[in-house]
Amino acid sequence: VIADFEVAIVGSGFAGSLLASISRRLGRSVALLERGTHPRFAIGESSSPLANVLLEEISRRYGLDSILPLTKWGSWRRERPELACGLKRGFSFFRHEQGREFAADPERTYQLLVAASPRDEIADTHWYRADFDQFLMLEALRAGAEYFDRTLLERFRDEGDGVRLEGTRKGAPFSLRARIVIDASGPRGFLSQTLGIDDAGFQDFPATQALFSHFQDVRRVGPAIADRSGPEPPYPVDDAALHHVFDGGWIWVLRFSNGLTSAGCAVEDWLAAQLRLEEGEPAWRRLLDRLPTVRAQFEDAVAVRPFEFTGRLAYRARRASGARWALLPSAASFVDPLLSTGIPLTLLGVGRMALCLEESWGSDGLSARLAHDAESARREADASAKLIAALYASFGDFPLFASLTMLYFAAASFAEAARRLGRPELAPGFLLSSDPIFAPRLFRCCDEAIALVRAGGASGPNRRRLLDEIAKTVAPVNVAGLLREERRNWYPVEAEDLIAGAGKLRSSREEIEAMLEKVAFRAPAGSTV
Ligand SMILES: Cc1cc2nc3c(=O)[nH]c(=O)nc-3n(C[C@H](O)[C@H](O)[C@H](O)COP(=O)(O)OP(=O)(O)OC[C@H]3O[C@@H](n4cnc5c(N)ncnc54)[C@H](O)[C@@H]3O)c2cc1C
Repeated sequence: VIADFEVAIVGSGFAGSLLASISRRLGRSVALLERGTHPRFAIGESSSPLANVLLEEISRRYGLDSILPLTKWGSWRRERPELACGLKRGFSFFRHEQGREFAADPERTYQLLVAASPRDEIADTHWYRADFDQFLMLEALRAGAEYFDRTLLERFRDEGDGVRLEGTRKGAPFSLRARIVIDASGPRGFLSQTLGIDDAGFQDFPATQALFSHFQDVRRVGPAIADRSGPEPPYPVDDAALHHVFDGGWIWVLRFSNGLTSAGCAVEDWLAAQLRLEEGEPAWRRLLDRLPTVRAQFEDAVAVRPFEFTGRLAYRARRASGARWALLPSAASFVDPLLSTGIPLTLLGVGRMALCLEESWGSDGLSARLAHDAESARREADASAKLIAALYASFGDFPLFASLTMLYFAAASFAEAARRLGRPELAPGFLLSSDPIFAPRLFRCCDEAIALVRAGGASGPNRRRLLDEIAKTVAPVNVAGLLREERRNWYPVEAEDLIAGAGKLRSSREEIEAMLEKVAFRAPAGSTV
């Protein structure tokens, strides 16, 4: 036996390390267990406004001052220039037809740009996870967590008043006791395997697989697809989570400040089979050969590490908690990279787990609370999966796809604003998944979209009704000027939209103004960023 700990956390990704720091702040003794070593490659890089507000809340509540600058592009670059990240001003989507160049039309029918921030200084980031995760692990050590890397855990034993973990470390037998084990080792991770938890699957979710790498010399696509006769887009389209959408899947492109770009694809099984996705780089080339505009973007690109092929992407653990153990959301489920839901879902789970340790540690209610939190995470993952399933179904009908994404953008921007106003209760759960009005309507819209497409293509009065239903669902939480036709698929972030939405946020105009001031929404006089 090496030692007895109160909390054992398996996996030192950003979630495990963050929770280790928090647990130390709460006075718990912590073992952080990792099978690999840092720095290491990790996928899941694109943050979002909601992710950043959650990271900010957690950092403030638990006094993690060194993490705070990493919640915005400007302060990150100034205070931690040694940690690479990327500038993310929004979500950019372009719909491609096989074998044809993307051509912008004046109505912008096949593109969607949704800004996430009004300017670079307070913009979101892409996390270069090798740097970011190592930094958080070192912070956990600084906070007093004991870190065991190169640890291969093989057994989990519930001993009644605690748990024993056994395996090997650097070739020698390893054993450790803890009062509670938190699994932050990712989908199909440690507890799923040792406890034999199976994959319950998401209802209606398409079977998908992914292939990805990091590249050098990826071109910016903005100049190639700009409509030169038209106005400037709300932000440079490449300073974003860039999505290339096509029948059967999509490609992400995320640029970092260190010259590297993360890119990859998530595709349905039928397309994966055509491309022979498991072959890695040749499959990537075969996909690009179908998409001339994307192929040109990658003309000079060189992969700087071997391609990773995931096999089955989605995962939904049948159980996510027990008397003395719990899976974080990122270990309990994964849906798809689309809409960057992984990081906010994980941070919501970290926040709930932190509160649970803060309020229920040592009480009889601990395991009931773990079960309750696991149920909240399941509801959030199910809502995400439902929406992403509808988005996959509508890849071939881009206007419907764009309309469905508004369910996400409205809910996420409403939740961000509500939290920044100190009223998180207005936006219960990711995608408002615990809101008695929004959540069932979201499910209805998505079910309807999937059914319409399955019935041979959404057209006619049913399609019109669905678009109306989406608009009605979005309206009560639309504080971002979404679905305004005159914007023709380009959505900037405007203070006026938030001020106009004050009533929906149960706030006065003055409260909104004060919030905008606090987040430095408007650039100070004389500044250009
Ligand atoms: C292809 C793809 C793209 C994605 N893109 C995005 C995105 O753009 N935006 C977004 O929000 N989310 C994205 N996600 C989701 C995102 O990756 C996860 O939400 C995020 O990585 C979760 O972080 P984590 O720290 O919990 O886990 P991880 O980053 O998976 O870290 C788990 C850690 O546990 C360690 N570990 C694993 N097994 C064991 C074991 N048995 N014992 C000890 N240690 C172990 C691993 O070595 C690793 O260090 C993406 C996911 C995929 C698959």
